[in-house]
Amino acid sequence: MTPQIQQPDPRTGAAVKAADRAHVFHSWSAQDLIDPLAVAGAEGSYFWDYDGNRYLDFSSGLVFTNIGYQHPKVVAAIQEQAARMTTFAPAFAIESRSEAARLIAERTPGDLDKIFFTNGGAEAVENAVRMARLHTGRTKVLSAYRSYHGATAAAINLTGDPRRWPSDTASAGVVHFWAPFLYRSPFHASTEAEESARALQHLEDTIAFEGPQSIAAIILETIPGTAGIMPPPPGYLAGVREICDRYGIVFILDEVMAGFGRTGTWFAAGLFGVTPDLLTFAKGVNSGYVPLGGVAISAEIAETFARRPYPGGLTYSGHPLACAAAVATIRAMEDEDIVGHAARLGTDLFGPGLTELAARHPSVGEVRGVGAFWALELVRNPETREPLVPYNATGTDAAPMAAFGAAAKARGLWPFINMNRTHVVPACNISEPEAKEGLAVLDEALSVADEYVSA
Ligand code: PLP
Repeated sequence: MTPQIQQPDPRTGAAVKAADRAHVFHSWSAQDLIDPLAVAGAEGSYFWDYDGNRYLDFSSGLVFTNIGYQHPKVVAAIQEQAARMTTFAPAFAIESRSEAARLIAERTPGDLDKIFFTNGGAEAVENAVRMARLHTGRTKVLSAYRSYHGATAAAINLTGDPRRWPSDTASAGVVHFWAPFLYRSPFHASTEAEESARALQHLEDTIAFEGPQSIAAIILETIPGTAGIMPPPPGYLAGVREICDRYGIVFILDEVMAGFGRTGTWFAAGLFGVTPDLLTFAKGVNSGYVPLGGVAISAEIAETFARRPYPGGLTYSGHPLACAAAVATIRAMEDEDIVGHAARLGTDLFGPGLTELAARHPSVGEVRGVGAFWALELVRNPETREPLVPYNATGTDAAPMAAFGAAAKARGLWPFINMNRTHVVPACNISEPEAKEGLAVLDEALSVADEYVSA
């Protein structure tokens, strides 16, 4: 798809920017230290500013535009639903809501057949934890240090990354543990089998010392996303499933980022042959065209609330417009085999292409991922694996990653950057020529990162 860029219009761009700076309070930011790009339009895998600069989006927004921008079928479905029934209260049965729930339940693994709709990922996590606590009558929830689960109260306390620190109540009933990550193994393991076994033993030990009877749930991202795209080693998730069963602990898989085609399968749980008790989703469910998230619920947990009210709800739960966008998105993904395309991108293009880049760039310590979900771990020293920038670096400490990012943007590629990593997470329907164009820019930008390598 070749996007149509309208005529540059710097005056409008300047006005958009001025109003933003005067009145928009941005997420996660020191307001005076940011410089948001004014975006004029977007189509497919590209977006552009008011000055005529076009960017290939290797970040899918915040890893959510799985079908790219302005997919015509989804835009049309939103317009049609808006004309017919823009909104309606959650207590009624509404066609787009029923159909979205049916289509999602058909694709989630096992008996996850009931869908509680939310407005996004954090609320999905929030409600999954509430369900687990009510189902078990227990309080504690275990989550991984290398994780992100959202920014609301329970979700940010579950989150492992430093965004938790300012909001950590230390009383949220959350206990963190180490999940497997062979490249930076917390268990001094040297093989995937060792990492898997030791991580499972560590989880067992954590449960034993916390008291199994006090633990409501274990929550994991099936493949951790923002924390670094670390596919778990074979056997790990099946092992967690078995531990949960043994102790009556609810197993929650967070697929807010990994779900809906990102990994070349509808849900990443399918890659590992596991079925959780609760599965959270958002983002790719409708590519973020209208805010939507949810929890897919097992038959057993649904039964808990069959005769007893579920004490949770949202005014916009199952919003008709958002659900119509989900129905159209899922159908477009089926019709255009976008999930299969993402799988092939991983095996045929990103896997080999990124491995080849790593072989030529000493700053690339490791390449890992699947489908349209890849991370490059950038290092200062490939032998010691010292990260290109320290954990949670800011300001001048983060300069090498900033230089890498600036080099990519100057060449028309919008990268996803987190700490010492760049993630390759484009739309799952990015074309092969577009994907190759992105890899060619990455190649040049990595030469900038190479300048910081000291080995
Ligand atoms: N869970 C995971 C795995 C995520 O990646 C995110 C967002 O990036 C969330 C939850 C939170 O979703 P939201 O930002 O829609 O609240």
